[in-house]
Amino acid sequence: MGDHGAVNVMHHVPEAELEPPNKLYADRVRVYPKAVDGLARRIKWGILVFCLAVYYLLPWLRWSRGPGAPSQAVLLDLWNERFFFFNLELWPQDIWFLTGLLALGAVALFLVTSLFGRLWCGYACPQTVWTDLFMLVERKIEGDRNERIKRDRGPTTFDKVWRKTAKHALWLGIAFWTGGAWVMYFVDAPTAVREFWTGTASVEVYVFIAMLTATTYLLAGWAREQVCTYMCPWPRFQSAMLDEQTFIVTYEGWRGEPRGHGRRLGVAETKFGDCVDCNACVHVCPTGIDIRDGVQLECINCGLCIDACNHVMAKTGSKPWLITWDTLARQAAKKEGATPPLRLLRARSLIYLGVMLVGMVVLAAGLALRSHIGLSVAHDRAPLFVRLENGDLRNGYSVLLINKSRQGAEFRLGVTGFAGAEMVLPEASGKPAETLSVTLGPDTVQTVRVLVQGRPEHLEEGRQSLDFVLRNEATGEKAVYHSLFMGPGGS
Ligand code: SF4
Ligand code: SF4
Repeated sequence: MGDHGAVNVMHHVPEAELEPPNKLYADRVRVYPKAVDGLARRIKWGILVFCLAVYYLLPWLRWSRGPGAPSQAVLLDLWNERFFFFNLELWPQDIWFLTGLLALGAVALFLVTSLFGRLWCGYACPQTVWTDLFMLVERKIEGDRNERIKRDRGPTTFDKVWRKTAKHALWLGIAFWTGGAWVMYFVDAPTAVREFWTGTASVEVYVFIAMLTATTYLLAGWAREQVCTYMCPWPRFQSAMLDEQTFIVTYEGWRGEPRGHGRRLGVAETKFGDCVDCNACVHVCPTGIDIRDGVQLECINCGLCIDACNHVMAKTGSKPWLITWDTLARQAAKKEGATPPLRLLRARSLIYLGVMLVGMVVLAAGLALRSHIGLSVAHDRAPLFVRLENGDLRNGYSVLLINKSRQGAEFRLGVTGFAGAEMVLPEASGKPAETLSVTLGPDTVQTVRVLVQGRPEHLEEGRQSLDFVLRNEATGEKAVYHSLFMGPGGS
């Protein structure tokens, strides 16, 4: 494989699956991850606390936007078609920005994966964060790995029943809180809580909280590593982003093998490598795999096996980091006695970085230059035109005017490109004029009927293209909409 070739990611096959199949699907091999302490675990706890704090508390953060505007810092107001993010307010017309952000997020994930493997999966993915939280609850109530295995295999006792009941009740409580917090991103948080408990919230609120409670409970409590291995598409194509220079969790087989209990058994030290085959790395693994088998699809790069093995190395007096973070290329060189430098920045990661930077500049520029007024025009279909007594032709239009700013303003609406054209608002009793004055309140969408009239001799082949122009009198900002004026013979 070349430097930039994709790493061949193995699929871990439990021994039981290698036996001749007598049914279509293998039973799930239940994973009982053991608690461990160390660098990776502490980083994971830190990220978990940060992610959960942001998720649960953010909807409660207030943000002043002036009268008439919601005071929630982050709010996806689907009913009024607005997205509020601190000082940023997005309208449906700004959907390109959210789409761009999602695309940027995907490229950022490609970049991180090409540099550090499934770092996102191991540390910040919601499935990992909530599964970790659920496992913490499980461990507090049911004990660590050995105690849980023993109890699960033992008879049904009062101790077993109350512990299982308490665990599931707490899981459901966390799941409910998680579902409730999610809904608060879509409705005002204090109002939602008050309405929920007084039974006056909308049906949608109850339905969504129930659905999200159920999915959180099932995915984090029951499905756990099955989500990462079977449901999530990311492991399938992450191997296309990994190569020999990706910094991942790896086992130093060249110093660990041949594995065995040599030293403890008094066999000559030279016969065995540093791995004492204790399986501590397997027992802490949240996906139940053995990192000594090489790069595997199930590995979420969490590094807990590193922590476990470092404890073992300390006990046996061997050098730590038998399982470590490193690149496959460096490991191959170390096997030969060399220690090449890290080559994290390479063509693949530079391309992702370049695309990300360009995307960020485009999005920032788009946001800075986006218009605060909007204009959309629909020509009447029937009749296409009418002829007035003086021979003028008249067309009708429905004109959608949008003032996205938080201040009301005077606007001027006119047409260009059609010589001598005049406009009139049929609902007002004014005379035809070259431009019309319209007052729009703050944060307003308004549709007005506009009649445009002009001389037929200015038409070419029964039609004339014209531009509607809406201009903010105070700021000079304008919006233009291209349309047509129709006459006899036009279509
Ligand atoms: S924890 Fe370390 S010593 Fe124990 S089996 Fe795993 S690699 Fe070998
Ligand atoms: S093998 Fe190690 S890094 Fe990979 S998922 Fe298991 S514990 Fe985490």
